Amino acid sequence: MYCTVCNSSVDSFNDPQLDKKFYQCPHCELIFLDKKFYVAPIAEKKQYDNHNNSFEDSGYVQMFENFLNFFWDDIKENTKTALDFGCGPGPVLYELIKRRNVKSDCYDKFYQTQKIYENKKYDLITSTEVFEHLDNPKEVLNFLTTLLNNNGVIALMTLFHTNKQSDFLKWWYRRDPTHITFFTPKCIEIMANECGLNVIKHDNKRIIILQKK
Ligand SMILES: [Zn+2]
Repeated sequence: MYCTVCNSSVDSFNDPQLDKKFYQCPHCELIFLDKKFYVAPIAEKKQYDNHNNSFEDSGYVQMFENFLNFFWDDIKENTKTALDFGCGPGPVLYELIKRRNVKSDCYDKFYQTQKIYENKKYDLITSTEVFEHLDNPKEVLNFLTTLLNNNGVIALMTLFHTNKQSDFLKWWYRRDPTHITFFTPKCIEIMANECGLNVIKHDNKRIIILQKK
């Protein structure tokens, strides 16, 4: 089995608690679920419908404000347009970006299915709680890069793992059956470089900011 990010040969390990098999890349640190444990798309959507992704949940809104605050000062001068890719059922982040006077679009493969980004370019693309659901993260990052203006920025949020199997096997984040791919900042940096992006900064927990070279 080969790594979906860097193509290196990967090691497998079992998760006895979940009765699942994962792979870990010794080169780029990607961890990913064996495909035979993927859930069907209809079950996947059901899982997303269970999330309370709305303005009524103040913790959820605050999480996105913190996300934007992490990089806003770095980008606000040059950011006139944005796309929230994978916005979910209640496009909260998209609304918060609009409130910061940036013209915004949103797209979601289940909830906002119109490909509004076609024939457009953006200064900022956000994608939060998306990349852990992807079996082809490099392909998606490459695609998002094609939607960026020069010097445009991609801001990702996905919880980072520690690269220790013992931590991973106790980690709540792996329990969501739709979470299939897990990153470290190093892994995203390797993937980003291949897509023509540099890492501007990350918080070592869940946020990483990439800029088109
Ligand atoms: Zn790899």
